[in-house]
Amino acid sequence: ATPTALLAGTGRGSQLGILIKSAQVLEDTRGVNTVVLDKTGTVTTGDVEVIQVEAFSSDADPYLEVLAPAAAVEQRSEHPIARAIAAAGSARGTLPESQDFKSYAGGGVRAVLADGRTVVVGKADFLDERRAFLNDYQRELISAKEHEGFTTVAVAVNGKPVGIICLQDAPKPDSAQSIAELKALGLRPVLLTGDALPVAQAVAQQVGIDESDVFAQVSPEDKVTKVRELQDAGQTVAMVGDGVNDAAALAQADLGIAMGSGTDVAMEAADMTLMRSELASVPTALKLSRATLRLIK
Ligand code: ADP
Ligand code: MG
Repeated sequence: ATPTALLAGTGRGSQLGILIKSAQVLEDTRGVNTVVLDKTGTVTTGDVEVIQVEAFSSDADPYLEVLAPAAAVEQRSEHPIARAIAAAGSARGTLPESQDFKSYAGGGVRAVLADGRTVVVGKADFLDERRAFLNDYQRELISAKEHEGFTTVAVAVNGKPVGIICLQDAPKPDSAQSIAELKALGLRPVLLTGDALPVAQAVAQQVGIDESDVFAQVSPEDKVTKVRELQDAGQTVAMVGDGVNDAAALAQADLGIAMGSGTDVAMEAADMTLMRSELASVPTALKLSRATLRLIK
């Protein structure tokens, strides 16, 4: 390959807000035919909003007993869900301090409040793992909210589930257009998320990803496995993500692309970083690589 053409390609990339780790990366994009997209913060804005808070017990105050303890813990997490919960909680009053904070990628968080209460916030299976078991009624309520398209997390205090928080995250304004462009380039867009299937399908439908190309409830480790499975099936895979939970899959992919709005861990693992956090930069980056490679062929 002609190093000058590759260097020119990386230079053009940075003008377009696409930071390319090394000129070699452009060569690695050769043959990419599948583009795996993380949902939260990649296809959606990641500006998650709390839409509804419900206490399981009808005489409990949803703010005092569900949102406030959850928000106190989530202040310590950088996850988009956490930022939304912390913002909603602090908008209603001062939040208690917490200690012994621990975050479980793809599951949730836990911490101990100043008054000694242990609080767990996360998806249903995560609460079960933390031995705060949800009953059938509580699980059905979560599932019903997910079918309405809400990302739904549960909150437990001292090992007892106390309620749920329903959140919403809209697709980025340019997501549908960008996915149409990827398809026009002959690429297969795939949606990969730790979120629940009904929520993932609602987003996929809005942006034009085929229902059969949606993989939901995928843990961070399984994101790597999924990328490897696609590679084993003969696909050359670009993976686009923003979170700590995407880092390993970004490294496994033939081409790892991080959103500049995302976490440092994701950017370190990736081959390219998109400074404009628009999905449109993905087809732009792939077109740039193709054009550069055509020059040096
Ligand atoms: P995504 O693939 O959409 O970026 P993640 O793998 O980060 O999602 O998270 C998967 C699921 O784990 C979330 O939908 C949520 O239910 C739960 N979760 C992860 N982090 C948190 C957190 N800080 N607070 C509450 N729930 C969380
Ligand atoms: Mg994400």
